[in-house]
Amino acid sequence: MADSATKSPCRRRRVCDNLERVTENVNENNELRIAVVGAGPAGVYSSDIFLRQLKQTGEGLGLGTKARIDLFEKLPVPFGLVRYGVAPDHPSIKFIADALEKTLDNPDIHLYCDVEFGKDITLDDLLPRYDAVLFATGAVADKPLLIPGADLHGVFGAARFVEWYDGYPTGAREWPLDAEQVAVIGGGNVAMDVARELMRNAEDLKTRTDIPDNVYEGIKANKAKELHLFIRRGVAQAKFSVQELREMEKLPGVQLVINEDDFDLDDETVERAGVNKLTRQMVEELFTIREMAEDMEDDGGVDFEGNPAKRKYYLHFNADPVAIIGADGKVAAIRVERTETGAYGAMRRTGEFEDIPVQAVYHAIGYRPASVPGIAYDEAHTVLANDGGRILASASDGAASAVLPRLYATGWAKRGPIGLIGSTKSDALLIVTNMLDDFSKDGASGRVAPDRDPASIDRLLASRGVAPIGFAGWKRVDAFERAEGAKEGREHKKVVEPEELRRLARGE
Ligand SMILES: Cc1cc2nc3c(=O)[nH]c(=O)nc-3n(C[C@H](O)[C@H](O)[C@H](O)COP(=O)(O)OP(=O)(O)OC[C@H]3O[C@@H](n4cnc5c(N)ncnc54)[C@H](O)[C@@H]3O)c2cc1C
Repeated sequence: MADSATKSPCRRRRVCDNLERVTENVNENNELRIAVVGAGPAGVYSSDIFLRQLKQTGEGLGLGTKARIDLFEKLPVPFGLVRYGVAPDHPSIKFIADALEKTLDNPDIHLYCDVEFGKDITLDDLLPRYDAVLFATGAVADKPLLIPGADLHGVFGAARFVEWYDGYPTGAREWPLDAEQVAVIGGGNVAMDVARELMRNAEDLKTRTDIPDNVYEGIKANKAKELHLFIRRGVAQAKFSVQELREMEKLPGVQLVINEDDFDLDDETVERAGVNKLTRQMVEELFTIREMAEDMEDDGGVDFEGNPAKRKYYLHFNADPVAIIGADGKVAAIRVERTETGAYGAMRRTGEFEDIPVQAVYHAIGYRPASVPGIAYDEAHTVLANDGGRILASASDGAASAVLPRLYATGWAKRGPIGLIGSTKSDALLIVTNMLDDFSKDGASGRVAPDRDPASIDRLLASRGVAPIGFAGWKRVDAFERAEGAKEGREHKKVVEPEELRRLARGE
């Protein structure tokens, strides 16, 4: 191979020009400009990890170490499902929200809340102003329940109920909790959350959480006496976390009821469950619950502290809801088929059916990540069409589809609606590594957007009458929520109305 001394003067000049351009590109005033859409955990962690990775590896990759991240969020406040999905009584939530807030308190991350991609800004606005756009748009809607009777009055998707109890800015403000017998469908943590909030004592919930007044009043009026949680597979195939199960065990005034047969596991199932640490721990905890339920029954129907129980919470494994039965257009019962589950999770129908009277049904069978205008949606996997986080031109031919340069996805938008908040960090690491790698190969050190004026986006938004809420605005909301909470001896009290959030953010 020819060394540089033997290269033609013309070729040498091209190399020199290139190097000059790179040096110019990476000079201190020419930071990389990244737009992140969605200020949930995936968007916040990715912003942080991008800046850190760039500091560590940017020089070596010829990218410099400086970047500015503009983080766009459609809601007036940040944190996505951490604020509007995670159940209010989860003890870890405060810690996570605090950590996300600290991350945002960074001069290189600029928060633009109340700015919706697809409505207030588009790809045509972002691509001339940013070197890359990273979608972290998460999920807000339910997967539909596809059984007869799913359209009856009294059937609710978990997502809408979660929005209500978490005070989502555009969510319902009233919720009909007038059913005495309630069914919840689902074998994961969201089903557990929904069932727990339906069994919660209002005073207990109020003192330990940030729930707003309308939710407290709603839960106080809840008439539920019996709740049936249906899990279509067996004890060893559920997807509950141990923490969720422990929270279920400690519900004041609630007796847990199990079906002994569900716990009759064969040797192969037990052995298989032991292979995965999390599954083993979950099964062990479920057996603890079995013992608790037996004691609660033997003691005459009591809760975990031995107090008389006002409510019964039934856990049904190997029970697949196949239809919701109505009367006068309203839910009257749920029809459940008994199933059997093999050690490897294969489910067999038994043809044995039971109708259980209920007046409300909640389904928590999965979320559906949001689609994004201008980006292909992969319906089969319910994600933005992507390959390792690089956005694809189309979903139809999978990884064979062309990668669209400068566009990326992370979090639930990339992986689908599975995984805890922590997993958005590992996603972020992968995507950021891919982004930096791509930048290092594009011949311009990643600096490809022609408009490099950071104020350009502000002018554009102002010209459209869009008034973004920044980090300082969020801090004003947070301070108000803390002050309101303190008046009642609580740490926080959530503000729900979007106009009030905006007003507080503006300091009015
Ligand atoms: C009901 C429920 C309970 C959960 N409980 C727990 C738990 O207890 N512990 C745990 O670890 N994990 C929990 N999870 C999982 C956790 O919430 C997710 O892992 C995590 O929130 C995914 O992060 P994300 O940033 O990808 O998505 P999200 O949290 O959904 O954030 C996406 C953000 O993008 C914004 N956005 C969407 N579209 C646009 C647009 N067009 N323009 C601008 N912004 C947009 C959204 O408003 C949102 O703020 C729970 C999930 C659910 C659904």
